[in-house]
Order: sequence, then C-alpha cells, then structure tokens
Amino acid sequence: MTPEALPEAARAALGNGGDLARALSGFTPRQAQQDMGAAVGEALADNASLVVEAGTGTGKTFAYLIPALLSGKRVVVSTGTRTLQDQLFHRDLPLVRDALRVPTRIALLKGRTNYLCLHRLDMADEAAGGRSAVQHDALQQVRRWAAENGSGDLAEAPSAARRTDVRPRITATAESCLGGQCPRFADCHFYEARRRAQEADLVVVNHHLLLADWALRESGWGEVVPEADVWILDEAHQLPETAARFFGLGITGRQLRDLTRDATEAYQREAGDQPGFPARVARVADATEALRDALGEADQRAAWPQPPGPAVRAGLDDLKTALYDLALALAPLGERGLELARCQQRAERLYQALQQFDEPEPGQGVPWFETQGRGFWLRLTPLDVSGPFRNRRDAAPAAWVFTSATLAMKGDFEHFSQRLGLDEPRTLCLDSPFDYERNALLYTPQGLPEPNAPGYAAALVAMARPVIEAAPGGAFLLFTSYRVLREAAEALAGTLDRPLLVQGAAAQHELLARFRDAGNAVLLGTASFWEGVDVRGAALSTLIIDRLPFASPADPVLQARIQATEAEGRSAFRHLQLPHAVITLKQGVGRLIRHAEDRGVLVIADPRLTRRGYGKVFLRSLPPMRRADALEDVLAFWQEGADEIPG
Ligand code: SF4
Repeated sequence: MTPEALPEAARAALGNGGDLARALSGFTPRQAQQDMGAAVGEALADNASLVVEAGTGTGKTFAYLIPALLSGKRVVVSTGTRTLQDQLFHRDLPLVRDALRVPTRIALLKGRTNYLCLHRLDMADEAAGGRSAVQHDALQQVRRWAAENGSGDLAEAPSAARRTDVRPRITATAESCLGGQCPRFADCHFYEARRRAQEADLVVVNHHLLLADWALRESGWGEVVPEADVWILDEAHQLPETAARFFGLGITGRQLRDLTRDATEAYQREAGDQPGFPARVARVADATEALRDALGEADQRAAWPQPPGPAVRAGLDDLKTALYDLALALAPLGERGLELARCQQRAERLYQALQQFDEPEPGQGVPWFETQGRGFWLRLTPLDVSGPFRNRRDAAPAAWVFTSATLAMKGDFEHFSQRLGLDEPRTLCLDSPFDYERNALLYTPQGLPEPNAPGYAAALVAMARPVIEAAPGGAFLLFTSYRVLREAAEALAGTLDRPLLVQGAAAQHELLARFRDAGNAVLLGTASFWEGVDVRGAALSTLIIDRLPFASPADPVLQARIQATEAEGRSAFRHLQLPHAVITLKQGVGRLIRHAEDRGVLVIADPRLTRRGYGKVFLRSLPPMRRADALEDVLAFWQEGADEIPG
C-alpha cells in the first residue's frame, strides 16, 4: 500500500462494512475511532509525531493497530503495564491481524526479569544450603513448570515463582546475565524472545522495558528493543514520570543484597580458596544494613540531606569503601569463573553509582531517597527528560504516536509535549463517544470542610453513606492519602449492608474480582486504583473522589521542579501542578463509565472544585456531565434510571 493511501485505508477498515465490522460480531463503527485511525495513518505516511487524546470508549487500540499493520513498516508498540501488554498481544492484535488478513509477524518482548533464567535455576540447584523447605518446594514447582512450558514467561508460572525469596534466584538482571558466555545461552528464554522480536514486523513491549533499554543504550548495556520505523506509545501520560526514573540514577538495597548473595555463592562454586574473601563480602552486607539503619524510619520519601548527618555520611562512606574493596578482591578472581567476573563488574558499577549519587555533576538531577521496610532506594532524578527523548527521536527518521485517554488540559497538549520535548507535534483530541450528559451525574456536595481540616474523613463518610446506599450497585472511594483512607475505612467498618473492601487487605486483582462478583461492594483505594481499572456495569455505579489530586508539595522531585520552573519566571502552579492534577483527576474519573450502557454518579468531595478559581479548569477538562449539589438530585438520577428499565 502506498503511504498516501494509508489514512483512507485505515478509515475504511474501521468503518461501516469495513474489515473489522465484517470480522468481529458486535463491532460498532465509531466516527472518533475512524478519525484517529486516519490521523495515525497520516503520521505514519509522513514520519510525523502525533499526540492523540482518545476519550474512554474511542477504541484507540484498534485505531492505531489498523494503520500500523496496514503500513507494512517495522513497528514497536509500548504499553503502560505488562498486563496491558499481554492483553494487547494475546487478544487485540490477533483479532485485528486476522480481520485485515495481513501476514504480519508479531512478537511479545518483556524485560529480562520476566523470563525464567535457566542458568540461575541451575545455580539455585547447586547452592542448596541455607534454603527453607518452602523455598525448596517453590523451586521444585518452577522446575516442573519449566519442563512443560516453552516461553519461560513467568506471568504463566505457578505463583510460587513470584515469591520474593524465589524470584531473584530464578531471574537474571542486565547486570547479572552472562549473555553470550552463558552455558544455557542456546536455550535462554529471554534471548529467544529477543531473537523473535528482532525478526518480527510488530513488537509489543512495555514502557519500563523500553525506557530502561534506551537508558542502558547510553551506557552500552542495552539494545534489547529493536529499532523501528514506527513507535506507538500507549498510556503515554505515564511516560514523563517513568522516563525520569530510568534516565536517572538508582541504587537499591536489593541490588546490594543480591550482589552479596551472588558473590558468596559464586565464590563457593568457582574459587573457595581465598580466606579473606568472605569477610570482604560480609563487610558490604554489614555496610548495606548500617546505611539502611542510618536512613531512619520506614515509608519515607525525602530529599537527600545536604550535607548528610554523621550517621548517613558514615554509612555511605563505609559502603563505598566496602564495595571498592570487594571489587578489588574480585578482580583477580574474575579469571576463575564467569560468575565471579560478573560480580566484579557489578561491585564496580555500584561503587561508581554511589560515587555519582554522592557527588553529582551540576544539573545531573535531584538526589533523594526512599525507604520501605528494610528496603531503600537512593535516586538521582533528572528534572527534564526532554533531552533523551529528543535524542531518541533524532537518532533515525520514524513516525511517533503518543496516545492516552488523558493527555490534555482543556484540549491543550502543551504540558505533555513540553515534558517530552515534542516541538509542535500534530495533535488530536477525541471526546469519548459515551453519552455522559445522559448517563452520568457530577455531584459536588456542599458544606464539607477543606480536605486538610480536622474531621474531614468523618464528614466525607457522612456525606458518602447515603450516596452509596442510593445507588443500584457498588462504589469506589478513591483517596489521595492512606491516612484519610484508613480513617474512612474505620468509620465504615461494620456499618454497611454490603461488602467493604479496603486496599491492602488483599492483592489488587483479588479485591477487584471480589468487587465485580459482589455487584454492590464498596472499595476504598489509593493511587493504584486511579488508573487501569476496568469495571463495567452497575458493579461500579458510584465513584467518590476525596480531594483534587495535587501531588504532595513535600515530594523532593516536585519541589525541585517547582523551584526550577519559578526560576524560569513561570508559574509552577499553572504550568506544573495544575496540569498534573487535572490529568490525574481525569484518569480517576475514567473509571466510572466504561461502556455505552453504563450509568454512574461521580462525587468530587473537595470543596475547592467549586470555591477556587482553578476549579473551573478541572470542570472544563472533564466529560460533559449534568451537575448536582444536593443529595435529592442523586436520588432523582437513580430514580430516572429505574423508570427507564422496561417492565
Ligand atoms: S543468558 Fe542470561 S538470562 Fe539467559 S540463561 Fe544465561 S544468565 Fe540467564
């Protein structure tokens, strides 16, 4: 097909009597979807950059897959999560490819740690000492599964493979993988997936793999994701934050602990005759724990103290010295075995990373740290990721498509484009085809205190209770803080005539399964429930949002971004905090109406929505819903729905 013909061919395939309508029973042609298909086709034909906001229900996946498959070009599609990646590869892509009857070769590629590492499984067999019976049993299960399973994709493995004390033993990271020198290289699942990806016409990856690969390329360890003529980045609203994580520097307690474990085992297997060596490894292990102690309590996320206090300073210095000594001790042992050689490189790299973190170059990023339980992370996060993105786009001519249900603020893409360094991209904003005016009601209750006021959680629960009880189905209560979530959970416990599900009580997928099954449950959740959650029908009839989701100004990276924006003479609130909060709110609101037949009430409890001037920006960015400020209006909305039910 000629490039010029691509837009109209995509439109036709998505239209009445087109390939999709013929092949898929129940497919409903949608104008917005056809417009997006044509715009993506044009961008592919012209090697242009296109940013598309496609409201819920547009059918954006088909809208980009059709021109991508028809183009005959080499395509990489990246999704926000591995779950979406699996869904796209196993469900949507085969449907569209069959409907179009094109011979496109497709491949799924995940990061190395998602595949069983046969070499490390062999090593785990040899290093049997010190293993618990549970671990032993888990490894047996993995081995049985591996004998029958071809892909080695751990998403398909028994749950034992995902245990935190098992997974690191059966997976390799970019640093620990032996690559071409590995004795199991010929059977390696990861390299097999990579080979298939290199031969494919269309490869499905996820943002974590893509960005980690781009970041590693700069250091010479990457090149896992193949080059492409077309890059399609779905759930693109996540890219700036994910990119900041991967284009920065990170050292984790886990990396240090994995190194000491692997070095001990490698030494026992490949050397074993250097009496001073175990003490060097033990010193790294002790220094790691001492630094963790010095960082203080769990669940912190804070700027790196400048200068660090004496305990942190000593902890960091000891760790650097211990890593340096370990790398020195490993240097002559590298000739004795591959594992020891790899450990030597890891110790050296960790030492260099700590050194960079401790004395960053000007403009390299914001140093900060995080603690969770005994875990810790030291990070240097760049304030601006537009440079690396620009470099990637400039590396070779290609078409770039960025899409999501939430990218714009009042139809304006400036915030997103600027963060990714997109200079005047083509843009398209497509409203959801759902009839929000008719099927959704936005309730802004009156008289609630501001979210920071004492007693807010109690007032929120008192307001929410009759709203929940009036609905024909279940309710989500989405919070921006664990504190308010916990207070609300305590106030609601034992007082509802329906199941109460609280984040943290079980895994997210389990809570969602129970929520769907119950049909009238109440679920309380924070950030991870704001996006990517799809509950159709009456099971989710009410969505209550406790406050406008402004990021915490105490966040060290946000603080630094605010300072940098103000230093440029721009308002950080207008250009940074408000757009971010609007996009986040739109994500949360997107949970409510998931299907043309869905009806629902959205409650935004934060009184700032109606009392502050910026509230209008949020309101104008939401789908057009009827407004209500009294409980009676909510009751009338549901009554109206009941009246419409025939019979
Ligand atoms: S090549 Fe790397 S990932 Fe593959 S089996 Fe060997 S160590 Fe594991």
